[in-house]
Amino acid sequence: MRISGIGVGRGVAVGAVLRMAEPIAAPLDLPRVEDASAEASRARTALAATATELAARAALTDGDARDVLEAQSLFAQDPTLIDDVAARIEAGRCAERAVYDAFAACRASLEALGGHLAERAADLDDVARRTVARLTGAEMPVVPASDEPFVLVAHDLAPADTAALDLDKVLAIVTVAGSPTSHTAILARQRRLPAIVGAAGCRDLADGDLVVVDAPAGLVVSEPSRAELDGALARCGTVDATEATAAETPAAPRAGALADGTPVPLLANLADPAEAAGAVALGAEGVGLLRTEFLYLDHRSAPSVAVQTAHYTEAFRPFAGRRVEVRVLDTGADKQLAFLSHRHEENPALGRRGLRALREHEGVLRDQLAALVAARDAAGVELAVMAPMVADADETEYFVRVARAAGVVQVGITVEVPSSAVLADQLAPLVDFVSLGTNDLTQYTLAADRMLGTVAAYQDPWHPAVLRLARLVGEATGAAGIPLGVCGEAAGDPLLAVVLVGLGATELSMTPALLAEVRAELARHTLPEARELARAALGARSAAEARAVVEQSVAARR
Ligand code: PEP
Ligand code: MG
Repeated sequence: MRISGIGVGRGVAVGAVLRMAEPIAAPLDLPRVEDASAEASRARTALAATATELAARAALTDGDARDVLEAQSLFAQDPTLIDDVAARIEAGRCAERAVYDAFAACRASLEALGGHLAERAADLDDVARRTVARLTGAEMPVVPASDEPFVLVAHDLAPADTAALDLDKVLAIVTVAGSPTSHTAILARQRRLPAIVGAAGCRDLADGDLVVVDAPAGLVVSEPSRAELDGALARCGTVDATEATAAETPAAPRAGALADGTPVPLLANLADPAEAAGAVALGAEGVGLLRTEFLYLDHRSAPSVAVQTAHYTEAFRPFAGRRVEVRVLDTGADKQLAFLSHRHEENPALGRRGLRALREHEGVLRDQLAALVAARDAAGVELAVMAPMVADADETEYFVRVARAAGVVQVGITVEVPSSAVLADQLAPLVDFVSLGTNDLTQYTLAADRMLGTVAAYQDPWHPAVLRLARLVGEATGAAGIPLGVCGEAAGDPLLAVVLVGLGATELSMTPALLAEVRAELARHTLPEARELARAALGARSAAEARAVVEQSVAARR
């Protein structure tokens, strides 16, 4: 039997399967709770115990694993979440269900925010499950113990489990759920464990089955033939040995470039100054998007210039001497800032978002620009500032005027509203750079709310309609001789990143964890090849077809 999934890492392993128990199901609705205050205290005690357990596990590990576990422990102590649990109990829910629902709601909001915060969403599930298990007295599914090395097969692994795996025993991991950017996959990569995620067929594997796990091929082969086994055994460990040598003498990651040497700087998307140093370690050559609104989501009033300067300086310092592109506050829609978005709107994604809200509160914009300039001078970065949700030349000229008056030298816009893509030839000559926000450009082009699960299938930046708009922007920035970045999630999809370069993107910005894969894919294509792939994608009739024709062209070339 051959089971395919998404391979993580480059290793190969051979071993017998050991399965982890299936995850705990959602707690069913239990009868109305009579004593809400006793029930709330039961929930609080369970959450506190989960927080302590996760903090203790964090203390036993280091690196990314420690960060993830510490963040999980903080989730279990989050006052807003605890209040939400209490409110649900007050409304008649039992503690188990209240915890489950409160965490699910928080997960949905994080996912809607996208980027780095969305990656935290799966970590929340684990915190909820641990707490529910504690409340019901159920056993948490644990990694099975064995004296012999084994291939671990699970529905999904919590980051806490992946971090604690005994590398002398676990040869590889195979999971039904997960994506290459889930924390579990990131940790597997960090620990150099071959892994296959998203392998639905692995449900059919049983304890003791002999399997070959081939991460580069994204394949699990059960009951392999003699030849398959010999081939796999010959490859086992070879890649790991190379990687281990590389790890002992860490070289700085290469700068992003195509196979013919065309430079494509690879930059980081950041929402929190604490992420900056890690991004540099992963090879970020600068920052392509600092989402500043996340720093102030819980502020009732506009933060002072001094507070903002301190935040920005902290985020900038690890990038001293490099380019840092900051987006001024993008309030509205799913990111409501109390001091900017105070009116109720039926369709907030189509309302006073981004620059529209800032224009109504120019003092807030001026303060933010002053703080950014002060932080630039303190940290010694090459500051570039862009406006979100710009629709046309009037808005572009407005922002350029205010930003230049504040002392910003590099002024740009994000192109994420279709009108600004269509008018890119008018807008590009007015600015110093453009950044393509493919998340919103996709939502607005396909008229599909990016927060709404029922239309999630439309939220695919491979759609030729989105790519055709990107081409217009690429042609306009090319003609104006200014850089075109991509800061939406599309930049972190390795093959789509190549297509975007073929359409005229000159730099790519993404969640730092994705930099390595994108760097490796860019190095496989020349600029003429990237342009050829882009042409093929533009002619497709759907997102799926665009992806397929590009994958086929690449496979045919290899
Ligand atoms: C985008 O829309 O692509 C983007 C980068 O901005 P955000 O995801 O913050 O809306
Ligand atoms: Mg956007």
